[in-house]
Parts: sequence; C-alpha cells; structure tokens
Amino acid sequence: MVSQKLQVEMLIVGPLASNCYIIWDDKNRTAAIIDPGEDAKDIIKKVDELDIEINYILATHGHFDHVGAVAQLKREIDVEFLAHKGDFFFIEDGKNAARRWGFIIDQPPKPDRFIEDGDIIKIGEHELKVLHTPGHSPGGVSFLHNEMVFCGDTLFQGSIGRTDFRMGSFEELKQSIKSRLYTLPDSTIVYTGHGPSTTIGTEKMFNPFVRA
Ligand SMILES: [Zn+2]
Ligand SMILES: [Zn+2]
Repeated sequence: MVSQKLQVEMLIVGPLASNCYIIWDDKNRTAAIIDPGEDAKDIIKKVDELDIEINYILATHGHFDHVGAVAQLKREIDVEFLAHKGDFFFIEDGKNAARRWGFIIDQPPKPDRFIEDGDIIKIGEHELKVLHTPGHSPGGVSFLHNEMVFCGDTLFQGSIGRTDFRMGSFEELKQSIKSRLYTLPDSTIVYTGHGPSTTIGTEKMFNPFVRA
C-alpha cells in the first residue's frame, strides 16, 4: 500500500526563522525544496535522511530569508531553481539585502527558469500549481497541491505578510488573499513562510487583517 499523499517536512531555517519545506512523492522518492532561506547543511542532511531525490528548488518569493541557501544547495545538488520574474530584483539584490539586515548569505543565483501563474510543476505523480499572489512582493507565488498550499509570506496564522517593504502593496496582498486563497476549500492547509501552519477556513473566520 503506497501513500498517495504528497509528503511534507518542515525545517525552520535562518535568523528570521523562515519555514523551509521539503515535499516529496512517497512512491518514486522525487522531491522539491521550497524556500531554502538558510542552513543548507541541515536541509541536505534531511534530504539524505529521507532518501529522496530533489528535482527542483522553488521560491515563493525572492526575499533573502527564503532564497539565502539556494547558492549553496545548487553546488551540492544541481537542479533547476524556479521563481517568479517579478521578484528577480530581490534575488539579484539578495546578498546586499541580507547585509543590510546584518546577515551574510551567498549571492543567490539567477533562477534557471521563471514560473508564472497557472504553471504546473510535477513532483513525481503529484502536481503543484503556481498561483501568482503578489502584495508582500510583486513576484510572490503560492504553490497549490490538492488541499495544501505553500503561500510564503502572503498569509500567516492570524496575520498577513508585511507590505511596507520595497514594492509591497496592501491592496494587492488583500486582493491575492481574497481571490486566490480564500476561494480554496476551507480545509486547505496553509503552509506559511514563518510561524505555524493554519487552514483557509480558520483564516477566513479569524484573520483580523483580511476578512473573508
Ligand atoms: Zn518575504
Ligand atoms: Zn520571510
């Protein structure tokens, strides 16, 4: 009996406690890493423990706390790094941005390919759908698979992503949450960029920043 569910493991990485997710297909052991913000060694150790093969490195957005380990990871596992073009500015500025916050990271590489709204990324037999969810940053995306969504810094448990960073927009963020996330089934698990997971139903009911 083989589990049909996409498997998820979370690591909290880096000084800003970013959530990095490793997701994989139990059947053929293919996998992806979402938001490797730091701690490449820990991520690789976990990948080895799980005995899975990484096919992609994915970024929900280009802030350094979500892409800070991409350069190191790519040296160890040479797979495609995918992100939305709208955040290329942040990726290019990654090392400098980290330095402005007092942190040191290796300059993240240019994405091998840009992803867009509606794109499908295959993880073994599972499909991740790309939803463009700008607002926290212009190229912010969420990755949707059945009743799970990895939304980066768009929506948090009881909170939302900051919109006071460069190129952020509260109006856009609100629109993204309402039209792309709150329209998902209530039972959808929201894997956030920082802090605990939540569900769409819970946030629709209790999130004080964006009401359903
Ligand atoms: Zn961010
Ligand atoms: Zn973040």
